[in-house]
Amino acid sequence: MSDCCAQPGLLPVETALQRLLELAAEAPQGQVETLPLAAADGRVLAENIVAGLDLPPWDNSAMDGYALRLADWSGEPLAISQRIFAGSAPAPLTAGSCARIFTGAPLPEGADCVEMQENVELLDDGRVRFKQALKARQHIRPQGQETRRGELVLQAGTRLTPIELGLIASLGLAEVKVCSRLRVAVLSTGDELIEPGQPLGAGQIYNSNRQLLISWLQRLGCEVVDGGILPDDLPATRVALAQLLDVGLILSTGGVSVGEADFLGAALREEGQLAFWKLAIKPGKPLTFGRFRGVPVIGLPGNPASTLVTFGMLARPYILRRMGVQQVAPLGFQVPAGFVWSKAGSRREYLRAKLQDGRAVLYPNQSSGVLRSASWADGLVEVLENTTLAEGEGVRFIPFSELLG
Ligand code: AMP
Ligand code: MG
Repeated sequence: MSDCCAQPGLLPVETALQRLLELAAEAPQGQVETLPLAAADGRVLAENIVAGLDLPPWDNSAMDGYALRLADWSGEPLAISQRIFAGSAPAPLTAGSCARIFTGAPLPEGADCVEMQENVELLDDGRVRFKQALKARQHIRPQGQETRRGELVLQAGTRLTPIELGLIASLGLAEVKVCSRLRVAVLSTGDELIEPGQPLGAGQIYNSNRQLLISWLQRLGCEVVDGGILPDDLPATRVALAQLLDVGLILSTGGVSVGEADFLGAALREEGQLAFWKLAIKPGKPLTFGRFRGVPVIGLPGNPASTLVTFGMLARPYILRRMGVQQVAPLGFQVPAGFVWSKAGSRREYLRAKLQDGRAVLYPNQSSGVLRSASWADGLVEVLENTTLAEGEGVRFIPFSELLG
């Protein structure tokens, strides 16, 4: 760690992110556990998944219909020699006949064509007349079309969703190796804070960051330790940090601006290491990264919209990487700006925006203290440094649905 307190200018978001990801890679690796698939949703794969079989394991019918050998068909009707349901093991196809077959049933040996039942006529004598021209291999799902045995299907570091779990089940695996949960402690600093449910005293505000971060971390799959509220006081800060030495990360909000009230920074300087960054990000700007007696600590700015943006854009990818996730960048897409941005800024802005008629429109009050802007919004519009925008110009939009999970 370097550059304590002496950062000239503002640190670009990408540089900060890259440093955070490097720091994540340096942190000790977590444990691996084996879980049944039903308990693995949201967890991070700790092993490569290699197909132990072909998918599908054999040629099968894509339709309810009739299977035949194309060479046996001269245009004349064919007799039905067997009926093949999904789950059955068919006999080889008798020469000169066809087989009644249902979707997903294995193709009998010798058949190379399936016709769907809508395109045949069943004659009174029980034979089948194929009404139109047939092509070899039509309506057949070939063995291995999805996956070949030995193929790498999922890589370690993939976050498991119901889709991956379904895929792993299709390969016949009942259990997976996943990374252990990252334990994260959440601390809220500020003499003005009290918890919801208490009467509001003079000069006090309710602690919203604690709830925001606890719920968000739970969504990311972390094990959360509630470190409570810390007063703006150095001895109390040191005592609180010292009680959290069994976690993988301490995440604190508030009190990180270089000022008299930077007790977190002071504690890290005394009993660990500290990097204080002034980021080219808005809302946000001050961010602390350090270690307290070896435990990584991230200090986010306390204004709720700043907490949200800096957590989403910087702490989230760091935490995901610590969890073992490879793909940590949120998906974003270009949308036309439904607003004009005439004043280019030196900081990258993350504006709370809603999609209306395919355009991003902004919440009128983008103040860093206004969390309601984010609740109104569908996501964040990213306006790059030194950039102006005309109405209709393309701008990157990152939906909250991406960031929150
Ligand atoms: P700070 O970063 O401590 O200077 O705080 C910046 C602003 O965010 C101040 O107005 C604080 O009252 C407010 N703030 C800090 N922490 C929280 C919190 N946990 N919940 C709500 N507001 C907070
Ligand atoms: Mg404060």
